[in-house]
Amino acid sequence: MQIEFLGTGGYHPSERRHTLCLLLPETGVMFDAGTAAFRLNEAVQSGRVTTRHLQIFLTHAHLDHIAGLTFLLPLTLGGDLDSITVHGLPQVLQAVQEHLYDEALFPVPPDFIWQPLDGAVRLPDGSQLTYYPLEHPGGSLAYRIDWPDRSLALVTDTTASSSPPYGEFIQGVDLLIHECYFPDELADWATRTGHSNSSPVAETARSCQAGRLALVHTDPRRTDDDPVGLAGIRSIFPAVELPEDGAVLEF
Ligand SMILES: [Zn+2]
Ligand SMILES: [Zn+2]
Repeated sequence: MQIEFLGTGGYHPSERRHTLCLLLPETGVMFDAGTAAFRLNEAVQSGRVTTRHLQIFLTHAHLDHIAGLTFLLPLTLGGDLDSITVHGLPQVLQAVQEHLYDEALFPVPPDFIWQPLDGAVRLPDGSQLTYYPLEHPGGSLAYRIDWPDRSLALVTDTTASSSPPYGEFIQGVDLLIHECYFPDELADWATRTGHSNSSPVAETARSCQAGRLALVHTDPRRTDDDPVGLAGIRSIFPAVELPEDGAVLEF
């Protein structure tokens, strides 16, 4: 199973990272539609996406997670996909429909299927998707997908700790994708903004016995090779990686 990190940054795009957008090409699932969502066009046209029905799951409606929805128009208009279904909490879908697609902002109504979340979702490949509410200004959702032989969880945007409220939800997950906006030096900013800094993310991965940890939603002001302090994270949880845009992980 592959996951493509189309966009790995938080808040706004940088010269190095577009904002969050993750693609499971074989399952036809995308998590969030940040500014990197334009890259879905190439992923579909190259044949890497093997379904004609795409399902997008939104964590929340902050702009860095939804702005790219407006970049997907050619996919359905051009006939590359038969349908795009957008899943999210009812208030999230309502905010996106009313505000992002206000006629003054974007004059073409999308032909998406808007699907409010109402319990676990059975995906076309037989896997099961579940979700869990996160603490964040305005709220956010963690997602988890379980296949018979592997699992994956995405946790963004929220503040990690050594025993986070979502610990049980992500327990034993094979691949944990967790936000890590700040290095430890800016831990106070993490708490103030509802984001995470490095060591508590590593402690979360260790305490939930994740197989591997992939860090996303980093601070766009940090365009250097190591915006989060990887050595410190490795000393707590060695199986950590920091995927850049375009990275593909096998899990
Ligand atoms: Zn964000
Ligand atoms: Zn947010």
